[in-house]
Amino acid sequence: MRKGDPDDPLLRQVLPVSQEALRVPGFVRDPLEEDVAIQTTGLIRKYRSRALLMVTGQCAVNCRYCFRRHFPYEDQRLSLRTGSIL
Ligand code: SF4
Repeated sequence: MRKGDPDDPLLRQVLPVSQEALRVPGFVRDPLEEDVAIQTTGLIRKYRSRALLMVTGQCAVNCRYCFRRHFPYEDQRLSLRTGSIL
């Protein structure tokens, strides 16, 4: 990152900006339509030969463009205690 440059592309990847709060026509919180693909807690399966396991309660990066920004990671986290699918 270029120090002091608020438009540095690497910084913009993770820096929240006020424009994110604007209402934009067509915006949806679940653009990948994953809510309907949740098979059970911690398991998303949209395609026959693919599965996504949620093994952590959050993403370590939180990219500003992430399609899963509003995904309820904490609610969908696999847990040995709850016995989810393990
Ligand atoms: S899940 Fe989203 S926030 Fe996390 S690294 Fe991938 S794109 Fe970035």
